[in-house]
Amino acid sequence: MGKTIIAGPCSVESREQLREATEALCKIPQVSLIRCGVWKPRTRPGGFEGLGEPALRWMQELADTYHVQYCCEVARPEHVGLCLQHGVRTIWLGARTTTNPFMVGEICEVLKGSGMDVLVKNPVCPDVSLWLGAVERLRQAGISHITAVHRGFSMYHNNGYRNAPVWEVAMEFRREMPDIPILCDPSHIGGRADLLAPLSSTAMQMDYNGLMIEVHPHPADAWTDAVQQITPDEFKLLLEETLHTPVAPDSEAIPQLTALRENIDTIDHSLLGMLSQRMELSRQIASIKHERHMPVYQSGRWADVVRDRLQLAESMGLDPTFTKEMLEKIHAESVRIQLES
Ligand code: PEP
Ligand code: MN
Repeated sequence: MGKTIIAGPCSVESREQLREATEALCKIPQVSLIRCGVWKPRTRPGGFEGLGEPALRWMQELADTYHVQYCCEVARPEHVGLCLQHGVRTIWLGARTTTNPFMVGEICEVLKGSGMDVLVKNPVCPDVSLWLGAVERLRQAGISHITAVHRGFSMYHNNGYRNAPVWEVAMEFRREMPDIPILCDPSHIGGRADLLAPLSSTAMQMDYNGLMIEVHPHPADAWTDAVQQITPDEFKLLLEETLHTPVAPDSEAIPQLTALRENIDTIDHSLLGMLSQRMELSRQIASIKHERHMPVYQSGRWADVVRDRLQLAESMGLDPTFTKEMLEKIHAESVRIQLES
């Protein structure tokens, strides 16, 4: 399946800036839609909040001239009507809007019967239910063309990203809604031009349906998100490096994959069997402790377990952070069982 590629400036700044961006992007065959911000939700007050209607008028005019289609964010119900009046057929709910079920509901009311395509960015916080909820509300409003956009999450520690990717939240979204295509927005995840290529490659490895990337004719002069935008030429290179035609699995790879997956299935089954035995031992320990009024949590024992298992894991080539998190999950469950038995 071909990938959906959406590209364009973070914000519309002038007719000339949008024209220049459009002229360059309409020559890139992979680009199916041009993104541009008309209303900009700013986290802190005082920044550029978008040009509103004048931007929509330029979009309408340039869409005719260059035979392209634009999409933009809507943050209020009235924005939807303005988009429709100016020929914009695809809109997106921004991360701050997806976080707010009341606003999603109000926007859904005006979307009813509009036939618009809607992109739903993930909510600001890593809460998969809010993301799923926004899609469910759109579906209830009769919107049938819905696409999810993974733009990362605001965390206290973002590990060098503007918005931490937390890929597992997107994986959970996809598990719950396998029919909804998903795009990756590496611009808002990375927040830096040099992170676009590695993030886009990861998204392709994760089998995303496409990318939404901020492209500006003169990134250094951009009024918003200057450090994460790239030029149309840089964008062309990025696509060349990132989009590879997949090779269909050959007759040798398929049986190899099947055999390896069967081994994984067997190991997962034994892991679950062993976890179940481990929890049974916890129940027996609980009854000894309860009879003698011994506390369930024994910090010395837990410290010994962590030390021993981390040493063993290291000798087996397992990642220490992964090992520690897995042990903590198992221990928390063991404590819960002992408290409740
Ligand atoms: C944007 O796409 O320019 C934007 C503001 O996105 P988000 O809602 O992901 O922050
Ligand atoms: Mn932006």
